[in-house]
Amino acid sequence: MNPIFAGLQTSIFEEMSALARQHSAINLGQGFPDDPGPEDVRRKAAEAVVEGWNQYPPMMGLPELRAAIARHYKAHQNLDIDANTEVMVTSGATEAIAGALLATVSPGDEVVLFEPAYDAYLPLVKRAGGIPKFVKLAPPDWRFDAASLRAAIGPRTRAVLFNNPLNPAGCLYDAADLTLLADALAGTEAVVISDEVWEHVIFDGQRHVSVLAVPGLRERSVKIGSAGKIFNLTGWKVGFVVAAPAVMKVLAKAHQYITFTTPPNLQTAVAYGLDKPAAHFDAMRKDLQDRRDHLQRGLTQAGFSVLPSAGTYFLNVDLGPLGLTDDAAFCRRMVAEAGVAAIPVSAFYADASQRSVVRFCFAKTFDTLDAAIGRIAKSAATLLHA
Ligand code: GLN
Repeated sequence: MNPIFAGLQTSIFEEMSALARQHSAINLGQGFPDDPGPEDVRRKAAEAVVEGWNQYPPMMGLPELRAAIARHYKAHQNLDIDANTEVMVTSGATEAIAGALLATVSPGDEVVLFEPAYDAYLPLVKRAGGIPKFVKLAPPDWRFDAASLRAAIGPRTRAVLFNNPLNPAGCLYDAADLTLLADALAGTEAVVISDEVWEHVIFDGQRHVSVLAVPGLRERSVKIGSAGKIFNLTGWKVGFVVAAPAVMKVLAKAHQYITFTTPPNLQTAVAYGLDKPAAHFDAMRKDLQDRRDHLQRGLTQAGFSVLPSAGTYFLNVDLGPLGLTDDAAFCRRMVAEAGVAAIPVSAFYADASQRSVVRFCFAKTFDTLDAAIGRIAKSAATLLHA
């Protein structure tokens, strides 16, 4: 067996969800909403299954979806994208990330990762033969600077795998941060693979800035989006990639031999959804922001030190002020003793060097959030002490 996959443990999401089932716990671990998603978008998909085309769609994606993606990013991010040469539909963002790594990295090339790094990144980089170089980020603000970028980026850097907003940290990088990245890459051949799946899930009136909007990054970047996150339909696994034509040509070769196509009916529904008015996306953000604030208040009252969350479905607590030093042990105790599952952020550091942060998913009904807060508060006397 290939040693990289053979040596991997089950993902932290599967592990915590299994513990949640075992302890009949409320699952604020794995990130998925517990409502069914926008009904009109789901009906479009149903209609397309019954009345539409169910054979292979074009390899690059349905033309109507590729056009809708270009229109959507013009409307929401003022990006100029050529639907014919710069857009490809994939079976989820994870396929897009895997494909982008396979298309860019050769054995021995260096790949820069930001830690905490979403769990799929490192195994995929290694399987592509890449040598990981880490930029370590730390709470409470998870920022990088020119020096930390310079320390990781060098003449052997082939790709930078970037995530903005960043899961699990819940932080958002702005135009100035992206300019630091552009400056650090000037003169290199490196490609930026930018996982922007949380681009719509950002709060407090902030705007998302894509790598494609930044001079010096536009031509070298692969922007990855996800209908699952845009419409809160995480099981759909419809992703998309935007990149300059020369890069896209090679990305398309990887996609051709990984999944080749993506269910056409879901593509039709996503194309419909992407044209929804801005008010739809504003309402979605407002709704999630209210849930974030609700969980933030509850966890603060229970005695946690809550870190800011600018985006994603997640907010984090810092166990440091409580004197707790093992996030994984804490999560195992919380699921068993309080009946609430969360995710230890050490799972997103290759050396588990950060062990004081725990991630909670707030994309849940208010009833679910209240029940979780109640359980934690009830156990707080024992749970929150070392
Ligand atoms: N993206 C989800 C999260 O961050 C996890 C998806 C999965 O389980 N692989 O919670």
